[in-house]
Amino acid sequence: MKAKRPGSLKPSTRETARVVWLPGDGVGPEVVREARRVVERAAELAGLELESREYPCGGRYWLQTGKEWPDEAFPACRDWADAVLLGAVGWPGATLPNGDLAGGGVLFGLRFGLDLYANVRPAKLFPGIPHRVCGAFRVVWPPESVDMVLIRENTEGCYAPVHGQLTRGGTSEVAVDSRIITRKGAERVIRHAFELARERQGAPGDGKRRVTCIDKANVMAGCRLFRGVFDEVALAYPDIATEHIYVDAFMQALVRQPEHFDVGVTTNMMGDIATDLAAVLQGGMGVAPSGEIGDRHAMFEGVHGSAPDIAGKGIANPLAAILSGAMMLDWIGCRKGSAAWRGAGAAIETAVRAMVAAGEGLSPDIGGTEGTSAVGDAVLRRLAGEARRASSSSARRPRRRRA
Ligand code: ATP
Repeated sequence: MKAKRPGSLKPSTRETARVVWLPGDGVGPEVVREARRVVERAAELAGLELESREYPCGGRYWLQTGKEWPDEAFPACRDWADAVLLGAVGWPGATLPNGDLAGGGVLFGLRFGLDLYANVRPAKLFPGIPHRVCGAFRVVWPPESVDMVLIRENTEGCYAPVHGQLTRGGTSEVAVDSRIITRKGAERVIRHAFELARERQGAPGDGKRRVTCIDKANVMAGCRLFRGVFDEVALAYPDIATEHIYVDAFMQALVRQPEHFDVGVTTNMMGDIATDLAAVLQGGMGVAPSGEIGDRHAMFEGVHGSAPDIAGKGIANPLAAILSGAMMLDWIGCRKGSAAWRGAGAAIETAVRAMVAAGEGLSPDIGGTEGTSAVGDAVLRRLAGEARRASSSSARRPRRRRA
């Protein structure tokens, strides 16, 4: 190894953040490649430094190696990284001996290992992207009527591993998926929802800051506890309007009156289902981003899965991953108390918004013809344009004289 000459390396004064990239299966590597290009460029344009590590993972990696991810990947996510960006995991035929999806260990390993209790899924329809509600009665609404965030509890409920099957003489007799909801689990995710509502501008319909508790408290004990904790937490936020809605009624209200909703909070499986429908309102899986957030760690990924049906064709929409990257930079900025990182995240969203409004960078799933990397290129062009505009307008602005 070469010895460093004293003074040959200037110590960097730039703000630095560290990201682990986990491309995973199917379209995961295709969309993460574009997200990484955009995130790195946004950081560079903002004068920020991003350090990266990338690890393979998922079902195909398991088929090749017998492991779901390399041994060093989880410690890097936990001890080295500020944040993680995941593509997707899951591949047809890649199943663990116990029947579970190979690659699920990556997702659940991060969720439980890093205690990522709030699964935050914004549903925002950008002008230029068609919503995906189709059929005989084609629903038309102005894009600005869809701008909500649904938050799903991420560490308990039906997806926390308390389940099993009773087999007698080789025949499955009974299967149980029990659901545990705790006061602590409910309280922290509900608080997250109220804090987020304070940062937002309210529901698109009436401008009111509102948190909606989505549950099935008329039938399920866990939901009664969840709702009770919601009411207790709400007392500390008198500035935020609150309401309860049963999950079945919510699914109707979501498509009939999306403009009513600002922030919604719910339990794990109900949130998983409701957010897929919310994704339809914003243009589909290809554009729906998410963040899984805890007190000290966070992981970001598109809501979509590995989409084996389109993997390798170069047509996957990378916007969900790119917008997840924007959320990641915003979260890094919040955590570091840095406006520059938050600004870099906001610049990505502005670039995407401007791009689709101009009818550019539209992949086939949202009515265009652009391939995955062409969409990435189009976002990068817009990002550079935004940065030029920002710097020329600040150069034109007259400097204030010091008194
Ligand atoms: P999971 O269970 O892992 O969430 P899934 O089986 O629900 O995954 P996805 O992999 O998300 O399904 O795919 C659902 C549909 O959405 C598929 O038809 C797929 O092609 C489409 N899709 C998913 N992601 C994208 C994307 N990035 N761009 C375009 N289409 C996508």
